[in-house]
Amino acid sequence: MSDATLLRGGHVLTLDDEFGEMPDSDVLVIDGRIADVGVGLPVPDGADDVDCRGMIVLPGFIDTHQHLWNSFFRGLITGIGERAYFPVKRRLSALVTANDSAAATLAALWESAASGVTSVVDWHHNLRSPDFAEAAVTAHRVSGLRTRLAYGNPDAWDATRTADLDDIERWANAGVGPLSDLGLAVRGPTRSQPAVLAAEWQAAARLGLPMTMHLGGRRTDTDRYADLRAMEAAGLLVPALQVVHAVDADVEELTLLADRGVSISLSPATELGSMGPPPIAQALDAGVQLSLSTDSLALPARADMFEQMRTVVRLGNARGGAPVTPRTALALATREGARDLGWDHQVGRVRPGLRADIVVVDARRLGFAVALDPVLSLVMACGVEDVHHVLVDGRWLRRGGADLTGLDAARATAHEALLGVLDRAGWAVASRGGESSASAGQTTE
Ligand SMILES: [Zn+2]
Repeated sequence: MSDATLLRGGHVLTLDDEFGEMPDSDVLVIDGRIADVGVGLPVPDGADDVDCRGMIVLPGFIDTHQHLWNSFFRGLITGIGERAYFPVKRRLSALVTANDSAAATLAALWESAASGVTSVVDWHHNLRSPDFAEAAVTAHRVSGLRTRLAYGNPDAWDATRTADLDDIERWANAGVGPLSDLGLAVRGPTRSQPAVLAAEWQAAARLGLPMTMHLGGRRTDTDRYADLRAMEAAGLLVPALQVVHAVDADVEELTLLADRGVSISLSPATELGSMGPPPIAQALDAGVQLSLSTDSLALPARADMFEQMRTVVRLGNARGGAPVTPRTALALATREGARDLGWDHQVGRVRPGLRADIVVVDARRLGFAVALDPVLSLVMACGVEDVHHVLVDGRWLRRGGADLTGLDAARATAHEALLGVLDRAGWAVASRGGESSASAGQTTE
């Protein structure tokens, strides 16, 4: 017998050009797939009949860059001095075990799911041995989210050291999981010598893997900000590549990225906090494929695509150019994320034939505002606290506002794991609460 769910009577934002916005409509899910979208669909025998009146039904959010493994550093990072992100990461990364990393990964994935995120790219730049990949894959499978393992290496690795291409090939052949695929998180020209770049780019092409690379910081941060024109000259700008941040890319560089089919994952909230405003309107104008991302919960941040969308809208005008509308922001957080990852034949829209990665937001507290303009209200006035139902591949991860995963237990496990890391670092945790609860201890770098 098939497994049928009818999400009935919601305002459906399909993000699909053909179906558009569908008020008072139903979404029928059968065996993990969207079977039908329409008004007054009959309830199949034995179907789970879910009243969504007063709610907004949309594709699940797609987060195209999150460092899940270090999510449990949240609370350690103040952004200042030795408690800034990079010093903390440098100090603790090598002390994080594969199991610790898996605990942080699962907690971050489930926190993301509770917030309406159904797909996450695990940008894993602490894969120090094959154990870490194994642990990450296990966490992904347990989570029930749709994921990509972006197989990366510590920033601190020597520039002559190539990624473990044998292990990457093993995963490429074995498959990461039923809802997951594999990518390569490359360190790029600022942290890898040309021979390493060549080997990694060739491996990605041979194995058909997408690549993602930080283009972080400001242009003046030459240890982090790669020169896009030099990358073009070296033949490194290929359609399989996504760059992350690119806040200082000029119009000529954005046009180059668009021409080469290179996408950008923007993390507007964290970019504003540390790098400066990203050129969203300019990138859209140049025709660059954009998507949105959280970056890291450690920064500290929330798994909150509403915040990212709102930041996109507010920044739209800040750097000039055409305004960025809430509709565009919503598309970036859903459909365009799927497109960026090459998953648009599977997810990113509510359309018959696609997999059922669906979020239902309870917008009733907003009253008439929702009726006037559901997209405007969703993007600018709703938040993660309004996320009511979450389905991934037709499976419930959140229902009626209640979390159906093991989020609380996963957080507790991640917390214990972090205490172990801090203990090994000689980082004394004096007491609970307060910014001064973790002290730097006696260890110095
Ligand atoms: Zn990042």
